[in-house]
Amino acid sequence: MSDNYTQFVNKGLGKALAHKLGLPQPVPLRRYTPEQPLVTGPILVLGLPDSSDTQRVCDQLLALTDTHTDVDVRRHSESDGTSWGAIIVVLSDIHSVGDLSAPLRELGAHVRSLNPSGRIVFITRPHADNTPELSAARNGAHGALRSLAKELRRGATANAIAVADEVDVDALPVTSALRFLLSARSAFVDGQIIDVSSATGTEPARWDSPLAGKVAVVTGAAQGIGAAIARTLARDGATVVAVDVPAAGENLARVANDIEGTALQLDITTLDAGKTILEHAVTRHGGLDIVVHNAGITRDKLLANMDEARWDSVLAVNLESQLRINDALLASDSFTESPRIISLASTSGIAGNRGQTNYGASKAGVIAMVAATAPLLAPRGGTINAVAPGFIETAMTAKIPFATREVARRLNSLQQGGQPIDVAETIAFLASPASGGINGRTLRVCGQNVVGA
Ligand code: NAD
Repeated sequence: MSDNYTQFVNKGLGKALAHKLGLPQPVPLRRYTPEQPLVTGPILVLGLPDSSDTQRVCDQLLALTDTHTDVDVRRHSESDGTSWGAIIVVLSDIHSVGDLSAPLRELGAHVRSLNPSGRIVFITRPHADNTPELSAARNGAHGALRSLAKELRRGATANAIAVADEVDVDALPVTSALRFLLSARSAFVDGQIIDVSSATGTEPARWDSPLAGKVAVVTGAAQGIGAAIARTLARDGATVVAVDVPAAGENLARVANDIEGTALQLDITTLDAGKTILEHAVTRHGGLDIVVHNAGITRDKLLANMDEARWDSVLAVNLESQLRINDALLASDSFTESPRIISLASTSGIAGNRGQTNYGASKAGVIAMVAATAPLLAPRGGTINAVAPGFIETAMTAKIPFATREVARRLNSLQQGGQPIDVAETIAFLASPASGGINGRTLRVCGQNVVGA
């Protein structure tokens, strides 16, 4: 769906008018293309003086050899007008609230020199289960991050990676998260904190095709976000089984053919859907490694007007089918070692949304389901996570009345709707064998939507 406003305010009269009237000025975001440089300029790394963690992060960046450009990493900034592709602030070894002051003020001096679609990434530690002083300092870093993300303009984003205390800041899942956040793959991820809770993961032979040799199933793959996920996982090397209802068969076949995968016509609410999916993946492709629960529906009504069919159908497609399919997968010997499951939640499941009690229930259910299933997958090196999109330009959001839609698009720090590819890139990151230390979490892809922060 085209965003005419963004096109209007980026040229000629529209640009001047928007500037004069103080209107939102969204810019086209930098998005991933194969062989593009990781970032758009040098990377400045800030941290406490003599910090060994800061040195480790620098070494980790210098080891990113396959990013189609030499990564130019700087520990110090000369006042030579350098404009930065990214600024990384290492705060993993702070001890007190006072420790935040110097690195953040140094960051402040460079924020205006960040390139369009530039990146700020904080490396932090989780705040829970510490002394009051340390908890306050660590969560203070996250508070600053969320506010800073709202101050950035021109498509720049700020996110954090919170690394568990027992995990080194250069562990593989941290590298995976850092690559994702620095790159254009994370275009619509803003103001978020990615928790890395273990060092589990396997380094892919090639970072530009991390899913090579993997078999993935994507439900609801005939259109919208699901089609983008199927195409993105295939681009990253996976063999994809595209699942959708028989009524969507024609579109489904097109997607499956385009990516040289297979189509499976299936209503995921059928009781043996899990078994059917597994059988198809195993007989046609020799196994199943990645499952993306994307199929979802809306049947909006105020609760006062909600009928049984609207309530039950949304819960059945968006949540109960996922629970049942996961049970079947986990009970089967054919499901791979180190599996990856990724579910589609929604910011409506975090903040609630008028007219969406059924949808909000289903998506909040998904968020709790992944948290509760994570410990079952961890012993086999597997992960389950959710992705919560905000406003994404699809057939689903095209149904929203014009004025509501136009407002909803602007209510985030990037002042525009996301694209299906933004959700797909985030799912591909979580599906990577290198992302094994990220488990049971919900990652928002919402441009830092103002609802449900
Ligand atoms: P969409 O309506 O464009 O596509 C959904 C697909 O799921 C369709 O192809 C449909 O046929 C399929 N599907 C529905 N019921 C099914 C069933 N019983 N069995 C198999 N397939 C079924 O939706 P979308 O906008 O691409 O959304 C995809 C997912 O992202 C959904 O889970 C949705 O809730 C979530 N989401 C979307 C947005 C957004 O802004 N579009 C925001 C938050 C979350």
